[in-house]
Amino acid sequence: MWRNGGIRVARIGGIAVDIHLSFALVIAWGAWQGWARYGSVEGAAFGILAVLLLFGCVLLHELGHGLQARALGLAVHRITLLPIGGLAELESSPSYYRHELFIALAGPVVNLGLALLLGVIAYLIQPFSLASWPDYLLFLAPQSGRTLLLYTFWVNALLFFSNMLPAFPMDGGRVMRAALAILTDYETGTRLTAWLGRLVAVGIILWVGHGLLSGSNSPNPVLAIAAPLVWAGAQHEEVYVRRRRALVRLEVGSVYRAATDSVAPWEALTPRLAARLERAGGTLPVVVGGRVVGLASIDDVQRALRSRQQRTVAHIMRTQFPVVKPQETLWVALQEMSTYQLAALPVMHGQEFYGIVSLDDIRRSWS
Ligand SMILES: [Zn+2]
Repeated sequence: MWRNGGIRVARIGGIAVDIHLSFALVIAWGAWQGWARYGSVEGAAFGILAVLLLFGCVLLHELGHGLQARALGLAVHRITLLPIGGLAELESSPSYYRHELFIALAGPVVNLGLALLLGVIAYLIQPFSLASWPDYLLFLAPQSGRTLLLYTFWVNALLFFSNMLPAFPMDGGRVMRAALAILTDYETGTRLTAWLGRLVAVGIILWVGHGLLSGSNSPNPVLAIAAPLVWAGAQHEEVYVRRRRALVRLEVGSVYRAATDSVAPWEALTPRLAARLERAGGTLPVVVGGRVVGLASIDDVQRALRSRQQRTVAHIMRTQFPVVKPQETLWVALQEMSTYQLAALPVMHGQEFYGIVSLDDIRRSWS
């Protein structure tokens, strides 16, 4: 089954597992690395095997998150494996800090368990030095079963430590935020974790810089790209909580546009209708006999006009929409809009229609 460039490969414990198509490129990269290193077809196969093992460990990590979330009563849509890692998509974000803590920890804990298990097995077979990690992660060691074992051990150790960095968007950032939120509150937890994340970003830059200058056993410069990602993760989470704080304090009733116009389902789609929608802020209710039966948006009307088909409002109106009450918060309205992928919602109390609240109305109140 195809979905967002992904292909469904399995269903594990009721959770769908999709693999992104660009994954084929990573397989090819593994084959090329193995071939370049060992100079044989078996070397290429070895490289592919190594890539598959890596993504197997990423999958187990994501299953850790997914199964823990499900055990806590949250629905898990699917797990998508991307070339940059995995993604477990939850239906909603956990509403208890303790739950967020457990869900965020569950992924890295899987890698820690695997690393301990494989490390002990490998050590019992033949003792190894912890300083030998580049040999196994960079395919410098001979092509053997032992190399694969130690490679998988190091992959899990690396997945554990990199994911547990106390910085957004890593699991460690969510663990840190949840732990601090239990001690203080969500906002303070987020702010402190964001600052910790910025320190981590600076630390990465210093570490990579030092490695480059000293030239000895230098950390891979590729790691430097993690620094801006971590910095951006901190900004993103801070903006998110700042917006949330602003929006939970404002009611829909204070920003919505009162109803002055509406359309009927049988009205033709014309440039004049588009102009009316523009004046109304982009969205108008579709009303029949005093009841709101749909929402007409300027984007949908203009798209229909461009396709030059004779159509009416009934063809383009959205009929699946939630309504918000005037006393509900803008945060609730924003959540509903994102769930239903709408740019505006009708404001109603019982059967009484008040008007429309749009994404633009909400944006104006957080800027
Ligand atoms: Zn994770």
